[in-house]
Amino acid sequence: MSSTLRFQVVGEAFKKKPIDVPNREDRPSEFFAKYVFNRQKMFKYLPAKVYERMLDVIDNGTKLDLQTADAVADGMKRWAMELGVTHCTHWFQPLTEGTAEKHDGFVEHDGKGGMIEEFTGKALVQQEPDASSFPSGGIRSTFEARGYSAWDPASPVFVIGDTLMIPTVFISYTGEALDYKAPLKKSLKAVDKAATAVAKLFYDDVTKVISNLGWEQEYFLVDEGLYAARPDLLMTGRTLMGHDSAKNQQMDDHYFGSIPLRVSAFMKDLEIQALELGIPCKTRHNEVAPNQFELAPIFEETNLAVDHNMLIMGLMRRVARKHGFRCLLHEKPFAGINGSGKHCNWSLATNTGILLHAPGKTPIENLRFITFIVETLMAVYRHNGLLKGSIISATNAHRLGANEAPPAIISSFLGKQLSDLLTKLEESDDDQLFNISGKKAMSLDIPQIPELLLDNTDRNRTSPFAFTGNRFEFRAVGSQANCAAAMIVLNTAVAEALDDFKNRVDALVEGGMDKMKAIVKIVREDIKACKPIHFEGNGYSEEWKQEAERRGLDVEQSAPKMFQQYLAPSSIAMFQKMGVLNEAELEARTEIKLETYTKKIQIEARIFGDLCLNHIIPVATRYQSQLIDNVHKVGEIFPADEARMVNANNLKLIKQISEHSSFITENVEQLINARRVANRIENECERAIAYHDNVAPLLESIRYHVDKLELIVDDELWPLPKYREMLFIR
Ligand code: ADP
Ligand code: MG
Repeated sequence: MSSTLRFQVVGEAFKKKPIDVPNREDRPSEFFAKYVFNRQKMFKYLPAKVYERMLDVIDNGTKLDLQTADAVADGMKRWAMELGVTHCTHWFQPLTEGTAEKHDGFVEHDGKGGMIEEFTGKALVQQEPDASSFPSGGIRSTFEARGYSAWDPASPVFVIGDTLMIPTVFISYTGEALDYKAPLKKSLKAVDKAATAVAKLFYDDVTKVISNLGWEQEYFLVDEGLYAARPDLLMTGRTLMGHDSAKNQQMDDHYFGSIPLRVSAFMKDLEIQALELGIPCKTRHNEVAPNQFELAPIFEETNLAVDHNMLIMGLMRRVARKHGFRCLLHEKPFAGINGSGKHCNWSLATNTGILLHAPGKTPIENLRFITFIVETLMAVYRHNGLLKGSIISATNAHRLGANEAPPAIISSFLGKQLSDLLTKLEESDDDQLFNISGKKAMSLDIPQIPELLLDNTDRNRTSPFAFTGNRFEFRAVGSQANCAAAMIVLNTAVAEALDDFKNRVDALVEGGMDKMKAIVKIVREDIKACKPIHFEGNGYSEEWKQEAERRGLDVEQSAPKMFQQYLAPSSIAMFQKMGVLNEAELEARTEIKLETYTKKIQIEARIFGDLCLNHIIPVATRYQSQLIDNVHKVGEIFPADEARMVNANNLKLIKQISEHSSFITENVEQLINARRVANRIENECERAIAYHDNVAPLLESIRYHVDKLELIVDDELWPLPKYREMLFIR
């Protein structure tokens, strides 16, 4: 882009534009889930018997027969056609970052030279997309390109535009999962089974435990014209160069600030469309960094919440364009200001209430509460490295460990009351604290958990896994990640911990110990065992890194090495035992993570090299020539010693430009070489490590000099929109 064009683009972005504020007469409760084939629609469009069958399939996981599927498809088609739908697609979540869809029209021959519109149960339930171009980590060799997508009836079908969208799992011909949904569903089944068994120790009537997820999606908006003028943003989702804006977030004036008009019109539009798709949007606000915002719905069952998050990320991108924005979901689009995350609020609940809710009114409830808290901590403790492996990526690595996001060490913050309570439980012996009479009506003298616990005032913002009253908030998840990756690990690990807990309690009870006494004994053992994961201090501090290492927590910083956690014996054993992923699937997933990592850095390095050599150096040289020209002219009109004085500053600049330019040119060459060397490495893991160790750091060191040039070169010549131009929406 020429510099004059930059001025036009920037000018355009700052011009007053008409703001398209969507307006509706009807209330959100009226248009909520308008485009979702939910229970209400099923009731209306399905025969009574079919409706009953579907509820059984959804609620109890019974198998769907083809006859029922046909009847469901028929009702669905009628509903969809009333909305003008002409196509359908299976909608799945392959191991890339987004979702995948392939639309098929309802078109069929009618046998008389015309066509009919048909949608059968088979098309609803199963499809065989040619899936050879999706990452499979070697599970599916190219000659066996078939993969199956199969409907997940637990996630309702919805309509976008003219298309019926059917949420599906995506598996290989030989049955291995090639997506996020299949293992997520298995992990939810595992945690249901294990948690129900433990909840039954306290309440006889529990039949099901569900896992809840409430995500908080952070994002940036930039003007689309400015975005288009930044090849780095366009190709990689982040700016690879750009000097800090003089003003950014240091005044703390953006967080919770009043929402700019253009942005609030976008938010309103987005929320309306999300509500119509059944996503229960609740919260919206400005985030810390300029141009950064957050959207959060109320929590939902985890499988549905994950679908909704995937759906809303796509929706955000589309709606943003309508409003002349681009939505950036990258974890770190701009250096020097906060990046974006996706806090995942997680809890377990029975059909009657949330298991992490405190305080209970009765001693039994309190012990139940403590049990679920402690076993969650056990899970996080045992698999802290794996949890970190589940959220790390080439992009999230820029955010993690910086002083704005959780450190690259997983620990858990509980707050003072809960911490004190656990210490008390751990230190005192049974007879003092647990006055168990041995009779049926037992009194467990667990001190009443103070009311204050419900009020999450003393939250520790530096903790990656904080207890916040009735849930844990996992804060390390990246803004563009599929949060299923983290939820698979968390739910499976908690399932394993609860299963193990139950087995140990059972063994004591079989040996004749009273059930409540047995629970207290095991809880006490586990409070001691999981202590290293519990940390109330400042997670950003240097001391914590050392302390965490002493405690045996995973302190690895390199993303490719963190991925290896999926192949740790403890991880393989856990996933296998809980029936979530087998070893071949884990190997495939790790390989895909490594491959994705390498490709991302590779793309960044390429575009960065191009920008340096084609945009920055030529402009710097041009400006330098202007300065040299000026120096000569000054020499012509002034006597020599006066000219030297007048030229002093320009001579200094000419020299600085030379220094920065030669550093850039030489190191871009090195960057190309480092890539070449890395590309020759056969082993996927070693190649990713080479990219991490030898390629990525060069981007940072070269960038420093580009950003210095930005400060020197005439603004009129500078080819890329600057941070100060991109970061303040008018
Ligand atoms: P914060 O103050 O952490 O930014 P928000 O209001 O932005 O809080 O988001 C909190 C999220 O946690 C919401 O999605 C909310 O529905 C969810 N949440 C609340 N209670 C639970 C729970 N028991 N389990 C899971 N998620 C929950
Ligand atoms: Mg939060």
